[in-house]
Amino acid sequence: MKIYNTLTKKKEEFIPLEEGKVRMYVCGPTVYNLIHIGNARPMIVFDTVRRYMEHKGLEVNFVSNFTDVDDKIIKRANEEGIEAGEVAKRYIEECKKDMAALNVKPATKHPLATEEIGGMLEMISHLIEKGYAYEKNGTVYFRTRKFKEYGKLSHKNLDDLQSGNRSLLVTGSDEKEDSLDFVLWKPKKEGEPAWESPWSDGRPGWHIECSVMSKKYLGDQIDIHAGGEDLVFPHHENEIAQSEAANGKEFARYWMHNGFLNIDNKKMSKSAGNFFTVRDIAEKYDLQVLRFFMLSAHYRSPLNFSADLMEAAKNGLDRILTAVSKLKLLLENSKEIELTEEEKTLLERVHKLEEKFDNAMDDDFNTADAISAIFEIVKESNSHLNENSSKEVVTKVKESIESLCDILGIITEKEEELLDSDIESLIEERQLARKNKDFKRADAIREELLQKGIILEDTRQGVTWKRA
Ligand code: AMP
Ligand code: ZN
Repeated sequence: MKIYNTLTKKKEEFIPLEEGKVRMYVCGPTVYNLIHIGNARPMIVFDTVRRYMEHKGLEVNFVSNFTDVDDKIIKRANEEGIEAGEVAKRYIEECKKDMAALNVKPATKHPLATEEIGGMLEMISHLIEKGYAYEKNGTVYFRTRKFKEYGKLSHKNLDDLQSGNRSLLVTGSDEKEDSLDFVLWKPKKEGEPAWESPWSDGRPGWHIECSVMSKKYLGDQIDIHAGGEDLVFPHHENEIAQSEAANGKEFARYWMHNGFLNIDNKKMSKSAGNFFTVRDIAEKYDLQVLRFFMLSAHYRSPLNFSADLMEAAKNGLDRILTAVSKLKLLLENSKEIELTEEEKTLLERVHKLEEKFDNAMDDDFNTADAISAIFEIVKESNSHLNENSSKEVVTKVKESIESLCDILGIITEKEEELLDSDIESLIEERQLARKNKDFKRADAIREELLQKGIILEDTRQGVTWKRA
């Protein structure tokens, strides 16, 4: 299995630190709003990496944080006149609902920054002791130039960075020793949440959170650290500096970064109005379509989102789901007969396509090519399987498509949607049961409908219903 490593700018063979086990950390969202479709990209992409590794028999310890203290969260809380913690709690819950609808598996652990302050105080103190950090007026800074390998991930040169920062220095208000130094701890301002520390009542900087949570749940050294490409600099560069200075060991072996999602070929931005939350998309599409759309491109390429491309993704996914439904139907009627010679060669071709899928995934998770292998199996199925096929060939082809889709987190088991006419007749049956005082049956029907997302309301005019 090969992974493109941002650190070495090369595809490298993946060798985990401990045989059969993977320690993986993915930077999670800052929870001040519903997540947008850009945030969904790393979630889907790295969930797929995890699923593929699990399919290969690796045990993946997958940690992904929620940044639940931050300027944007505090701003939102002030606007609403509530505590920052309440804003974060609300949007963590909403984010988890979106993740479930995208079929993103819950992480082994989802740490919250605010629950890990103790570890942050410890790491900051340790960095001060080792001379990698210093305090000025209640703020603690990391002494960037002391970490000799600074810039190794983003391939930036310290002096170029310094000249880019010169404008900051001439403002005169900078109390840092060096313009490259970054904040580990900052004192609170009026109305901000704060924790006690040896330096000031305040809160941690963003970068130290991930270094600490990764260390606590995965250890000093991990296999993979991942996130969107905007995090390479400064976030991940700073995480490396903090972790390697504190622990004296290489932090992560492989650094993976997803490309950005753009809308109509423009950068997604709230102010420009070209901005969608995952919830916006859910109004129009099953979120499986969004997942399928994201996986249709290589994770490192920029991906353009448009109505046309979503329609194309919907059609592609439908083609696969329809093929699986057709195979299920065939299975009910197929006969237990010997495989014919043609069926044997068909199964060989399907097996080759399964290998093609694995080869694509082994090549830095090329999901676009992996999906095209699934389409080829669908094509084989549509053109060669029919009422005369043996049960064995139908079962094998069906299982092949289902298991490859499952590796990508695509659900093929489609819950049949109730037709309006079915709902109406169940309501009629319920009314009749009530008339006959069979309340048990009437309640059972209400419950059955609710399970399928149909909500009944008894009004004076009669029963009305809506889809949840
Ligand atoms: P944030 O809440 O901004 O820290 O973002 C959470 C995750 O989403 C990070 O891994 C970001 O890199 C990623 N991300 C944010 N916007 C986009 C985008 N437009 N396309 C792809 N990834 C994004
Ligand atoms: Zn992070």
